[in-house]
Amino acid sequence: MFSILIVDDEPDNFDVVEALLSNTKVLLGSDEDPQLHYAASGQDALNSLDICQPDLILLDVMMPGMDGIEVCQRIKAIQRWQSVPIIIITALTNKKDLSRCLEAGADDFISKPVNRLELNARVRSMLRIHQQYQQLATFNSRLESMVQQRTVELETLIYQDALTQLPSRNFVLQEMAERSLQKNEKFAVVLLDCDQFQVVNGSFGNSVGNQLLVAIAERLSQYRGPEDILARLGEDEFCFLVDNAPSLETLIPFVEQLLESFKKPFRIGSCDIFITACMGITLTDRGKQLPEDLLQEADTAMYQAKLRGKGSYQVFDRKMHLALLKRLTLETDLQRSLDQQEFTTYYQPIVDLRTRQLAGVEALVRWHHPERGMVSPGVFIPCMEATGLIIPVGMLVLRQACYQMQRWHQQGWSHLTVSVNLSVRQFACPSLIADIDRIVEETGINPARLKFEITESAIMDNTTEAIEMTEALRSRQIEISIDDFGTGYSSLGYLHQFSIDNLKVDRSFVTQVEVPRNRRAYVVDTIIALSQQLGLSVIAEGIETPKQLEYLQNLGCEFGQGYLFDKPLSAREFADRYLKAAVSF
Ligand code: C2E
Ligand code: MG
Ligand code: MG
Repeated sequence: MFSILIVDDEPDNFDVVEALLSNTKVLLGSDEDPQLHYAASGQDALNSLDICQPDLILLDVMMPGMDGIEVCQRIKAIQRWQSVPIIIITALTNKKDLSRCLEAGADDFISKPVNRLELNARVRSMLRIHQQYQQLATFNSRLESMVQQRTVELETLIYQDALTQLPSRNFVLQEMAERSLQKNEKFAVVLLDCDQFQVVNGSFGNSVGNQLLVAIAERLSQYRGPEDILARLGEDEFCFLVDNAPSLETLIPFVEQLLESFKKPFRIGSCDIFITACMGITLTDRGKQLPEDLLQEADTAMYQAKLRGKGSYQVFDRKMHLALLKRLTLETDLQRSLDQQEFTTYYQPIVDLRTRQLAGVEALVRWHHPERGMVSPGVFIPCMEATGLIIPVGMLVLRQACYQMQRWHQQGWSHLTVSVNLSVRQFACPSLIADIDRIVEETGINPARLKFEITESAIMDNTTEAIEMTEALRSRQIEISIDDFGTGYSSLGYLHQFSIDNLKVDRSFVTQVEVPRNRRAYVVDTIIALSQQLGLSVIAEGIETPKQLEYLQNLGCEFGQGYLFDKPLSAREFADRYLKAAVSF
């Protein structure tokens, strides 16, 4: 129902309008006739606005006290009533007066004496306009609140981590930028990354992994100071922005407290899960670093901490930055070298110590760098391992070694074996067996002459897969040797669960042979005795002197390798030296 306010000092006029507007509901497209309110003065009209909530005002001009023009101005000045149409009902007809009314904000005029037709037409069109205006206003305000709500949702999405409800990486970066602007503010970034979190996901499933992350977030929150920020940067990585951290001395106890907090297990459902974390720390240098650089510094420190082992922390210093830069250069250099085919395979003889005859070779990768010359695997293998480049390069070595050995077999040296190194990363690669099968097939090598050397950690890091993998290789008659044996953390008894064939005793134990008897640890003696009992053959690495050789022979060590016999050689050198005629060592 419409509400119309009629303002006139003359009550009779109200009666006239009332009579003229009776029975107009059909005309106005409404269910009921309009509700009419009466105000006898300007002030009265202003006072009654809130009570009668008019959709239209019919206003007389000539009134004692406040005249219609002032009333009109005042109503139009109130935001709430601005849009309510005002029709001036007046006996004035001169243009000047009418234009004053217009300037005061009036929407239309009706001249006195009022006639029914005109009044109805004006009232109807004004009410319609007002109604449409109101619909538009409602629509607008709904739209506005939807936009506001969406903005809040988007901000939450960008600035908050959905799983833990902690601030996100974006939030931290923004906060760092703001704090850096306040130049005197010294804050620290403590980056925290869980150790081997993928093991939790792998063994318990992602849902438990997620619950663990929430539990870690809750535990870490207990250590957040009132002005600090704790955020989740992604996956299993968290970050503290420690406010007002003037020096390392004040920060280290905090970091140690965090590490200590990981000693208690996290209760997830009915399981107690133990996990550790490493931390990388960096202090701001009075707003000199960009937020992204700060995170990068903390990340570099974290990488170093990870190298030191589980549950470690490391503070960033500039030397690390240089080391990182060197590593990055090496990485791009290695990638380029793979494309340029700068990697080749060298072969070091492995000798049967009982017959002193050549038994086989170990294939060792070599990098011919165009400027640096020959680069040692000790320099680049760890980097290739970290970047995963070891997988294509390892396969390249395997293919070259198999081709080469197959050719030597065809030349009549069919008893020679070839040992190829497999790194941890390669060993854990799901396509390994398929890749090996393809290369064996492609090169036509007799798999019984192929051996793989893996380290203890490759086995110990993935025991379940290692059992399957070693069985799969054995079923193809390919042998497995444990490389650098004794430097890892396995025991012989444990290793025996896997299908392995040979142990390569690490060079460090062979060197021990020459240490005076009273100070010598009899590791070689023990390894050889035990492996004989377990039916494994032993290859001694790094034999450099006749004395070492003699000692190993006396222990019954079957095979040996080392500079005493020869260093790793190119295929051509090797063939020239050993494959012209049988050579005795
Ligand atoms: P490794 O498998 O234990 O190989 C033996 C290393 O000892 C070789 O070093 C060899 O040149 C060196 N060596 C042999 N005899 C002696 C000796 O009498 N005295 C001394 N001081 N050293 C001796 P290299 O070629 O520098 O390789 C280092 C390591 O790099 C290898 O240790 C192996 O773990 C890794 N590696 C080499 N080639 C490959 C490869 O193609 N794939 C993978 N995954 N790793 C490789
Ligand atoms: Mg080896
Ligand atoms: Mg070795």
